[in-house]
Amino acid sequence: MRDEKVIVYIKERLETGRMPEAIEISKAAGVALSKEELKGYIYKYLENGWMPKAVEGSKAAGIELPKEVLIDYVNKYLEEGQIYSAIEGFKIAGMPPLKDKLAMIGRECLLKGKLYPGLEAYNFAEETPPEEELIICGNKCFSEGQLYPGLEAYKIANRIPPEKELIICGNKCFNEGHPSPGLEAYKKANRTPPKETLRACGQKCLQEGRHEDAREAFVASQKIEEIIEAKPIEIKEISLQELNDSKEIEEAWKGFGPKACLNCENEGVFKERYFILSRCPESIEEEEWLDEIMKKQYGIEHYGIAAGVFGDHRGLIDSAVCRKCGSQDVFFDF
Ligand SMILES: [Zn+2]
Repeated sequence: MRDEKVIVYIKERLETGRMPEAIEISKAAGVALSKEELKGYIYKYLENGWMPKAVEGSKAAGIELPKEVLIDYVNKYLEEGQIYSAIEGFKIAGMPPLKDKLAMIGRECLLKGKLYPGLEAYNFAEETPPEEELIICGNKCFSEGQLYPGLEAYKIANRIPPEKELIICGNKCFNEGHPSPGLEAYKKANRTPPKETLRACGQKCLQEGRHEDAREAFVASQKIEEIIEAKPIEIKEISLQELNDSKEIEEAWKGFGPKACLNCENEGVFKERYFILSRCPESIEEEEWLDEIMKKQYGIEHYGIAAGVFGDHRGLIDSAVCRKCGSQDVFFDF
């Protein structure tokens, strides 16, 4: 081999942490490697979290690596949430396996929204992460547009992610130009994203040269627009009698209604009004439009929409006035 080729070959080994091999080759080929250079690589391995490689290299190069240096690096790995490197480091530096410390690091990671390092730390500490930390972690992930770690955190906590957090996540994804997780987040929240948001997302993708993503966003936006334009929502008031006589309403929904006044806590008597929507609102704009119409046309400020009552696109509006205090702020349930 020619010298330059040998040097490239040696460098390649040094770069990937294979120092003993590099030193062997350099000796055989008569290519000198300076201690300074080797020392630089050893510290680079430590920076990368490769403590076993650093120790191996230091032995082969005859360069001393003081224990204090190793301990400093282990602490650095812990702080940065590089849990695997820290665990390895514990053993190499001969430190006691600090379970309490690991659980603490796990907690810190979760609170910062770093799900996987957090879970690893708890795992090594042989502890179960508390549900509340997982929820905080999940919400943090959602707020950063990290849908899948967020969902995972909630799953481990055995909880269903709230609609509000999912929408926050979806919006963040769209703002950053990631239509797929954004749409997924909205779907999980059972909501439709505003078409303008999707269009803006598509524009961002285009600017960044991501044409597949752009296409996905524009197609989704178009679809929402088509639904909204093709079929405006129609509202029809219906009496309780008509509703109960209706064969269309699904059995499971028959108990849906006002359960408690949120103003005076009355759980007894309400004056109810019902409306059938030709379809449920598909966007925030439509929800606002519906709020407006219900207020202006029917004088109703609070209402609940039940989707799936008729087993199709239609929705049922149920509004109630508390007979005790006159409030419309009423809680609906089954
Ligand atoms: Zn009341």
